[in-house]
Amino acid sequence: KEQRARQRLPVVPLGIERDEFLKALSELKETLGNEHVEINDKPLQDGWYMEHPNTHDMMTILDDEEFVASAVVYPSTTEEVQEIVRWANKYLIPIFPISMGRNLGYGGAAPRVRGSVTIDLGKRMNKILNINAEDYTCLVEPGVSFYALYNALEERGLRDHMWIDTPDLGGGSIIGNTVDRGVGYTPYGDHWACHSGLEVVLPTGEVIRTGMGALPGNNTWQSFPYGFGPYSDGIFSQSNFGIVTKMGMTLMPNPGGYESFMYTFQKEEDLAPLIDIIRPLRISNILENVAQLRHVTQAIAASGLPRTKFYSGTGRIPSDVIHAAAAETPVGDYTWAYYGMSYGPAHIRSHKLALIDAEFHKIPGCRKIDPSTLPADEYFWSRDRIAAGIPDIHELRWVNWAPNGAHIAFSPVSPIRGADATQLFELGKAVQDKYGIDFFPAFCVGLREMHLIVEIVFNRDDPEEKQRALRCLREMVDLAAAKGYGEYRTHLVLMDQVAGTYKWNDGALGKFNERLKDALDPNGILAPGRCGIWGKRYRGFGWEL
Ligand code: ADP
Repeated sequence: KEQRARQRLPVVPLGIERDEFLKALSELKETLGNEHVEINDKPLQDGWYMEHPNTHDMMTILDDEEFVASAVVYPSTTEEVQEIVRWANKYLIPIFPISMGRNLGYGGAAPRVRGSVTIDLGKRMNKILNINAEDYTCLVEPGVSFYALYNALEERGLRDHMWIDTPDLGGGSIIGNTVDRGVGYTPYGDHWACHSGLEVVLPTGEVIRTGMGALPGNNTWQSFPYGFGPYSDGIFSQSNFGIVTKMGMTLMPNPGGYESFMYTFQKEEDLAPLIDIIRPLRISNILENVAQLRHVTQAIAASGLPRTKFYSGTGRIPSDVIHAAAAETPVGDYTWAYYGMSYGPAHIRSHKLALIDAEFHKIPGCRKIDPSTLPADEYFWSRDRIAAGIPDIHELRWVNWAPNGAHIAFSPVSPIRGADATQLFELGKAVQDKYGIDFFPAFCVGLREMHLIVEIVFNRDDPEEKQRALRCLREMVDLAAAKGYGEYRTHLVLMDQVAGTYKWNDGALGKFNERLKDALDPNGILAPGRCGIWGKRYRGFGWEL
């Protein structure tokens, strides 16, 4: 790998000669400053989560050189983003905006089209523009991470006053996560639903503000998301229709107390009745946060120990090995663990917790875990921090399951129903068994739906293992779609396939997206192929994967 890296030549986007490309980059240097335009001619270094590369996907499931940038540019203002977009249109160069590029498991910082120029917005556009303690809102730039906002609240003495919401890993960008419709674990966990107001640079270089932001002199941009007329924000999430340069976000008032709880359930078959118990509790907000129902296999992996510590054979790790390992942990043996949090002062919590306890105990063998018996590095405490809006990175540990561990997810959406949970669980298990892959299912219960997140951990230096993981994923996506389940989000490599499953009425939605793309981005320069949307300049040339 190192040898190949030393020989590395910069990639040039298709359709432009190397000399012309280098000339175009020099022109951009004049606008942005020499040091803010970097050609990607260095060895590709993977780094780790907090020191991740912005040139490629450090967890790639393809060859390293597939989804790779030709150059990375660092704007410092919205005006500079506009300049970059106009430049890209002039030379017909594909550009790919990232906020921070920590979207690991979904493509990281990588562009979909090899040789795109990556716009790393986060490096220099990283200001918290406003925190409004009365309205519980903020306005941020792309480089503001969950950690940064959390620290800012702490520094300003506002941490007791209001909370942020963080996803499983707190190092990512608030804007990046929100536009990709990521979720967190407080009652404000649906990030997209909790944002209010965008500033967007369009693919032709104009800039717009959505919602109340369109009214000069307004003071409600972050408190009323809709403004007047069509609600345009939607087309800027999971798309390639614009570059978000500012976003408003609502923050949660400190609920006045909180308490994490963990229940374990013994049998795999407990899944269906448990999900049916969860549904009414979640919809009526007795279960107040996006809670996780996790399989014990992933909890064992979350210890951070490699698989080889437990088992050296091939194929799915046997259940008895997992259960024996679980029995040795402070939690003890189980199959499913439910992690949740109750919010509010003690007298309010106790009522809700009693209801939950009575319902969960309808499952024979249900155990409530006493947190005071759990050591400080137990995974439970990571869930506890995250559900209290405290950013964390403990979740990275299960990636050590494989040497040179990387991960990619199968994440179908279903109703919160036992029959659906069982169907998806059986589907994932059968396909992963076929491909000899350990099965890490976790059900994330939203309000009226749940995502099943199945992370596949693979060795990023083993081409055979990567191919197997990808074939397995593709099969799961197709089988799930045939039963009516679609992915809520996906990795770059699966975007065409997943978009293709949303094909009702002869692919009418896909065609609508193409019409929008062609109208907004006539040269098709902005993030071509992202979420399966290609501008007309790319269609019909076999770019789809
Ligand atoms: P994070 O920093 O949370 O890891 P990323 O910056 O990797 O998130 O963003 C995830 C994906 O969302 C990116 O690959 C990109 O396609 C898209 N994206 C991120 N930020 C923006 C933005 N400001 N404007 C438009 N698209 C964006």
